[in-house]
Amino acid sequence: RQKLYRELRDKPSVTKDGVPVELLMNAGLAVDLPQLAQSGASGIGLFRTELQFMVALTFPRVEAQERLYREVLDAAEGRPVTFRTLDIGGDKVLPYFNVTHQEENPALGWRAIRLTLDRPALLRTQVRALLKAAGGRELKFMLPMVTEISEIHQARQIVDREVRHLSRFAYHLPTSLKIGAMIEVPSLLWQLDELMEAVDFVSVGSNDLFQFVTATDRGNTRVSDRFDPISVPFLRLLRQIVKAGEKHNTPVTICGELASKPISAMALLAVGFRSVSMSASSIGPVKAMVRELPLQELAEWMDEALASHCAKTDIRAGLIEFARKH
Ligand code: PEP
Ligand code: MG
Repeated sequence: RQKLYRELRDKPSVTKDGVPVELLMNAGLAVDLPQLAQSGASGIGLFRTELQFMVALTFPRVEAQERLYREVLDAAEGRPVTFRTLDIGGDKVLPYFNVTHQEENPALGWRAIRLTLDRPALLRTQVRALLKAAGGRELKFMLPMVTEISEIHQARQIVDREVRHLSRFAYHLPTSLKIGAMIEVPSLLWQLDELMEAVDFVSVGSNDLFQFVTATDRGNTRVSDRFDPISVPFLRLLRQIVKAGEKHNTPVTICGELASKPISAMALLAVGFRSVSMSASSIGPVKAMVRELPLQELAEWMDEALASHCAKTDIRAGLIEFARKH
């Protein structure tokens, strides 16, 4: 199989019936970068910037951040890269960042965009590093754990200020700047129209979204395997996000673990995703699936399955049967 995946590396990611599918990889440290070429990913769909902070002994300085982001963009050699602004807090603890208030529910607590809007110097420094690293190139980054549209506007104000600051000092700015939001908090599902208008793209963080939709701690093995994201309610919800993106012409992608297994990636394509980001080692298996997939036929099957009574439909079993048949 390893040999098959290697052979597929430079082959296009197109379904059997001719639909192109963008396969991106998730990364977070410089050591991940060689996997871009090794896996044949067409870019980085999620660069988890907090990892640099988690392996450091103290807050990385702006220069160190800029150096890493430049290294990432250099390694990508023009392939698209989506950085994610700091997602610290929750289970991502920084030993040198004293959070005095013990949280009873850290996953629901002071984390990600909430924390960086409350400590704007953190976000400002990071945005400055990103803007400088991407001077003369395209820059794309997204905000984690957005709950309300106003958080996007607040972050944009910080970005605009940094852009003005850098241009005042005649820095080389990015040739284009795209700001996105992650869909991880269910409240966004009832603000999809406003959300799609407020950002340049969205990316579904299916790990957190599933955790919050099902009220199931993603790290607690007692419960984490209890519910299946490949199920009628979660797939209906994902399809709704794709449709809202199409309506507003806002690109939609997904970057949780869900894209990393061929069977669940099939489900994502069937509900309309055309761009998915996953762990690098999954690119080969998922590409092998994509190239064998009659997508139109699968999408029709999925539409029917999602229209039926959820209690009676085992989507996972249906997908496995479809995969066997094809
Ligand atoms: C997610 O929640 O799906 C996601 C991609 O973010 P993380 O796994 O880093 O929380
Ligand atoms: Mg997340």
